[in-house]
Amino acid sequence: MRVLITGAAGFLGSHLSDYLITQGHSVVGMDNFVTGSPENIAHLAGNQSFEFYEHDVSNYIFIPGKVDVVMHFASPASPNPASPFSYPNLPIQTMKAGALGTHNSLGVAKANNARFLLASTSEIYGDPLEHPQKETYWGHADPIGFRSVYDEAKRFAEALTMAYHRYHGLDTRIVRIFNTYGPRMRVDDGRVVPNFIMQALNNKPLTIYGDGSQTRSFCYVSDLIEGIYLLLMSEEHLPVNIGNPQEISILQFAEEINRIIGNSTGIVRKMDLRLGDDPQRRQPDITKAKTILNWEPKMDLQSGLALTIDFFRSKLVQ
Ligand code: NAD
Ligand code: UDP
Repeated sequence: MRVLITGAAGFLGSHLSDYLITQGHSVVGMDNFVTGSPENIAHLAGNQSFEFYEHDVSNYIFIPGKVDVVMHFASPASPNPASPFSYPNLPIQTMKAGALGTHNSLGVAKANNARFLLASTSEIYGDPLEHPQKETYWGHADPIGFRSVYDEAKRFAEALTMAYHRYHGLDTRIVRIFNTYGPRMRVDDGRVVPNFIMQALNNKPLTIYGDGSQTRSFCYVSDLIEGIYLLLMSEEHLPVNIGNPQEISILQFAEEINRIIGNSTGIVRKMDLRLGDDPQRRQPDITKAKTILNWEPKMDLQSGLALTIDFFRSKLVQ
């Protein structure tokens, strides 16, 4: 298959490109580098199975030749207002990537009669009142909060994808991705994994936003990519959660990273940096993925963190 991946120079898009190529497909990558980096795809330069277009998906997309699959991953993904690469600091671009970018990507899929997969997010559940989150939960999202530019764009993107499926008969998939980590995350995008690892490697106290009682469930990137590929190859049109259900508080997560790296400077609480709509608890219910895709994550947190810490350590010496 010839697969268009928007956001191909990002963390997930670059791993997805690698995986599809190893499965024998060819990839057309597209990115405008707003949060991604050419470094993430540098190893694919000269690969016969990889082409690349530098382009903003909020504008009309033209790809010469037949495309069999479109996978729409382009969007800023960090909520951290302290980083210039976060969606609260790229609010209009985020809404355009989720709304206009999804529309343009769906247009490419429709023109090619191609399969379409949307990278959606656990953020569509907002600050959830149901725990763990099942696909049937409609969510509890603030339409005007700091995170709303991302949440509402993704909710719009899901609705538009279903509209193309129902009205045009397009062959669509929607993956709701829960917190995923691994090599090639941006050192400075402000998400908790790069922040904590870089702080610990530099022997600085880990910055906990709020009291650290909020929870997340972290999935290693290779597990996520396998789940997404199985979904792409399935016949499921309704959303599917992909993530690791092992839930941990941010305080415990910080202590774990300090322990693994041997950082003795502890933690520091930054009460003012916790956004009002920062979800208090997040854990995927993956019963659906287990049942219909026969998928579940394999990598435990300690092994995944070890691989990720190696990556960030290599960034220190550059
Ligand atoms: P990332 O920032 O590393 O990658 C996003 C990529 O999209 C970047 O390379 C960026 O330059 C590109 N991009 C953004 N706007 C664009 C535009 N208008 N035109 C072209 N390219 C554009 O983030 P990521 O973690 O790899 O996230 C990828 C996708 O997965 C996003 O859609 C995100 O919402 C979704 N997601 C990720 C996670 C996670 O934990 N990593 C969780 C839920 C959902
Ligand atoms: N967080 C934190 N310290 C940091 C960065 C993030 O305590 O230096 C918290 C953040 O407030 C959130 C959680 O860690 O509660 C996960 O943040 P992340 O940005 O990784 O993604 P989210 O799951 O909130 O989208």
